[in-house]
Amino acid sequence: MTHILVTGGAGYIGSHACKTLAAAGYTPVTYDNLCTGWQDAVKFGPFEQGDLTDRARLDQVFATYRPAAVMHFAALSQVGESMRDPGLYWHNNVAGSLCLIQAAVAAGCLDFVFSSTCATYGDQDNVLLDEGCVQAPINAYGASKRAIEDMLCDFGAAFGLRHVIFRYFNVAGADPEGEIGEFHQPETHLIPLMLDAIAGKRDALTIFGTDYDTPDGTCIRDYVHVSDLVDAHVLGLKWLEAGKESRIFNLGTGSGFSVREVIDQSAAVTNRAVPVVEGQRRPGDCTRLVSGSTRAAAELGWTPKRSTLAQMIGDAWRWHQTGHYDK
Ligand code: UDP
Repeated sequence: MTHILVTGGAGYIGSHACKTLAAAGYTPVTYDNLCTGWQDAVKFGPFEQGDLTDRARLDQVFATYRPAAVMHFAALSQVGESMRDPGLYWHNNVAGSLCLIQAAVAAGCLDFVFSSTCATYGDQDNVLLDEGCVQAPINAYGASKRAIEDMLCDFGAAFGLRHVIFRYFNVAGADPEGEIGEFHQPETHLIPLMLDAIAGKRDALTIFGTDYDTPDGTCIRDYVHVSDLVDAHVLGLKWLEAGKESRIFNLGTGSGFSVREVIDQSAAVTNRAVPVVEGQRRPGDCTRLVSGSTRAAAELGWTPKRSTLAQMIGDAWRWHQTGHYDK
């Protein structure tokens, strides 16, 4: 039985990764402190509650399961929060990842798959982003992820830790089988907030800024279905298993949609009106983040299957109507 240590396995993306890993024949071991995750979402392998900064607990978990690799999802991931309280991000994301990486190296677990972000690129107007673009994050969230990328390179040079780094664009949708989905408290992401507004669970969605330099004045993002995203992680794991070099891959579709386009598509998919109000820009938001890379397709053989806006919103809507987690 091949164990994979999945930090953040009780969270949105981590839980979908666990499902896909289990389907691929691995045993995902979730390591999560439940600060934003849900124990109800841990359905596909053992659960070990613990904090990234707790080295003794990590050592114990590595010793118990002897995982073949780490998939590191656990992180704080809200741009707005990172601007208000950067210390949280440097502590939890950067110091936490350092502790995890040191524990992995000490345990001889040298294959590491890491969740990074297109937010590490920052605001590069009208540029389609590929892995060679300069990284110039404009928020503390992106800066924290870039620092961890650097850390992985240094530990690779010193100790032979090999990594696959995935720079995610905007992850959306839910498990098409409805077993798990996106559930944050508080919610800050565009699509689930919009579905809340459609369902009458909040008054209206606020559009954060209508004066950006884009065709309709709202920010543009590249949305990728969570099921497609986690498929890439299994391919990344196999890349490392095959003994290949450390590598960085963007995970996006290359199509950008504005906030207004996402709103219009949500109205069409749900066949309901979306209550919206126009508001101020949110500090730290980039104007446009769209992948211009074909590397994951060319080198990993990754082909997104469900990443149309209609399918992502449709799967998210189905989950929104039926699924939720309790504390
Ligand atoms: N957004 C918005 N209203 C909201 C939440 C998000 O207009 O209530 C916008 C946000 O400014 C960004 C896009 O939707 O342009 C995606 O934001 P989200 O927080 O979902 O993901 P991020 O791009 O920050 O990772």
